[in-house]
Amino acid sequence: MAYDPNNIFARILRGEIPNKTVYEDEYALAFHDINPQTPTHVLVIPKGAYVSFADFSAEASDAEIVGLVRAVGKVARDLGAEHPGYRILTNNGADARQEVPHLHVHVFAGTDLGRMIKPAGK
Ligand code: 5GP
Repeated sequence: MAYDPNNIFARILRGEIPNKTVYEDEYALAFHDINPQTPTHVLVIPKGAYVSFADFSAEASDAEIVGLVRAVGKVARDLGAEHPGYRILTNNGADARQEVPHLHVHVFAGTDLGRMIKPAGK
């Protein structure tokens, strides 16, 4: 899938759409999800143009991969989510119902998050 430079997160990265930033560095931007599913729900995105985790894991440089992973860890830590815990999740493709075609890591926290995933088909 080709990267769409007009997807909503590309526009957020260009500053064309406002966001509630919680962290930014050379490699990543983290901001509150517009429709939070948990009391704390932050999205961490790479600054590079990657459609998905599949795209990112295959094509990103080592520095970009390290940068994103460290940003996710820092965001969770700075949110005070390490204890009692948090969940990270990335939807990749149609079966995972990925909506925005720019890689994003969800960070969920602030409540008991329940079991890992709903059984398929329910
Ligand atoms: P996905 O289903 O692709 O894994 O998740 C996309 C996420 O992006 C959703 O949780 C949705 O609420 C969030 N989202 C979509 N548009 C915007 C937006 O314009 N701003 C912010 N902050 N979040 C958005």
